[in-house]
Amino acid sequence: MPIEFSWPLVGLAAALGLVVGSFLNVLIYRLPRMLEREWAHESALHLSTEVPHHPPLNLFFPRSHCSHCEESIRWYDNIPLVSYIVLRGKCAHCNHAIGFRYPAIECITAVIFALCAVRWGLTPTAGVWCIWGSALLALACIDWDTHLLPDSIVLPLLWLGLLSASWGWTSVALDSAVWGAALGYFSLWLVFWCFKWVTGKEGMGYGDFKLLACLGAWFGWPLLLPIVLMASVAGSLVGIALKLSHRLGPGEAIPFGPFLVGAGFIAMGL
Ligand SMILES: [Zn+2]
Repeated sequence: MPIEFSWPLVGLAAALGLVVGSFLNVLIYRLPRMLEREWAHESALHLSTEVPHHPPLNLFFPRSHCSHCEESIRWYDNIPLVSYIVLRGKCAHCNHAIGFRYPAIECITAVIFALCAVRWGLTPTAGVWCIWGSALLALACIDWDTHLLPDSIVLPLLWLGLLSASWGWTSVALDSAVWGAALGYFSLWLVFWCFKWVTGKEGMGYGDFKLLACLGAWFGWPLLLPIVLMASVAGSLVGIALKLSHRLGPGEAIPFGPFLVGAGFIAMGL
């Protein structure tokens, strides 16, 4: 019997969201760096050149530290959102400003968790949508920063979408979820190759196909077209605005992933 909506539950969900958001900040910063090291290591092995040596880095080591003075952050200076407010957005050691994105990600994650608790109470449905929202938020930031959509997030999320459909945790029939995943991948793959054939340029990456496949698994095939249209329109508008304001140089492009994510969040609210 699922626990129904209650304000303490929503508060607890928001607090858990703050903690998860804090972890997402680590994930967004470190995962692309871990992948780049892995690729450098693999290509050195293939080319039989000297394997580059880096100090160890994973999601839990080394401990959180200030990117400016490199000093470790004490646990009481690392409380999600609270520490940012208490320290007025500055490092406790060197007073260097801490990026506004850190508390923003924590707050957005808290809002996602709270909204899931309001909508679904304490149920597996709320749980899987919290995971979905957290993963998509991380993907949007990683893609915006590095133009990467790591398989290690997208593919498990795609499988979770299919499994959730089969268990009845999302309101999508398994049939529609499977077709959503397949058509999501294939449609962007087709657009990619047509665009490349006509213009000789690559308009997006394989990560985008997988991300749309993932969204298809969570929402079913009928929502694919609205998602792609919303993402394309928003992406074009932002791209044009950045070009006009000279914040995007010639030949530079903005990633498509964050706009797919934005459209995904709109689809979630439907
Ligand atoms: Zn510092």
